[in-house]
Amino acid sequence: MDQPVFDHRKLGLDDVFEFSCFPGISCYNLCCYDVNLVLSPYDFLRVRRALGLSSEEFIARFAELYLGDVTQLPVVAVKMQQHDFSCPFLRPEGCSIYPDRPASCRTYPLARFTGRDEEGKPFEIYRIIRETHCKGHFEKRPITVREWIKEQGLEPYYEFNDLFGEIVFARQHMDRPLSADELDLIYTACYALEKFRPLVEKKEGFLAVGFSEEEINRVLEDETELLRLGLNFLKRTIFREFFEN
Ligand code: SF4
Ligand code: SF4
Repeated sequence: MDQPVFDHRKLGLDDVFEFSCFPGISCYNLCCYDVNLVLSPYDFLRVRRALGLSSEEFIARFAELYLGDVTQLPVVAVKMQQHDFSCPFLRPEGCSIYPDRPASCRTYPLARFTGRDEEGKPFEIYRIIRETHCKGHFEKRPITVREWIKEQGLEPYYEFNDLFGEIVFARQHMDRPLSADELDLIYTACYALEKFRPLVEKKEGFLAVGFSEEEINRVLEDETELLRLGLNFLKRTIFREFFEN
């Protein structure tokens, strides 16, 4: 897969770009081939629930699981189909999981970059990805980045991805390897909520790091909130040195 080519501009939330994508455009679906489609924990939850699959079933059928080169954190990526490198969720009429498609598919033709500057302040910038096959750039529809985020339903994705991003940032600055138990807990909290739930049901370990009984009971009713608790639990345990103040 070719590396993306970025426009030279760095866009903020109120900057305007021109783009439109719609069924019938000459390049329709071309962007869904040979994609490096890494799923964040929230992407993973949305897609596997849309398909009605357990975490294990989803990974066995549609994904590859590996450790990230730099972070050594677990990574789940969608496997493209062998015969034509298309995304397994692509159909002639478009994306079959469109309401639950991952954040990167929603964000395209933008790419979002977040982090902390030298003073430790969080930043968020966007860049336009220019791919020769994508004709949406020639559509004269001006839109701000902020409007694009709203239109594409990206708010919950970015909220969860930023929470996960804090863990990735902490891991990048950790100067020791993760133990096998830590790695297992990270995987379970992020990508195996069926196995994480019984740990939460026991409650003690969660009460011990400041979650309330009420909070714990509430998340047991709602998988999205269970994921949120899982990510916050990792921040309060394995990565606590980066978040204590
Ligand atoms: S998830 Fe949907 S939008 Fe994203 S690459 Fe696959 S088919 Fe395309
Ligand atoms: S306009 Fe771009 S994003 Fe839309 S279908 Fe064509 S290649 Fe994909």
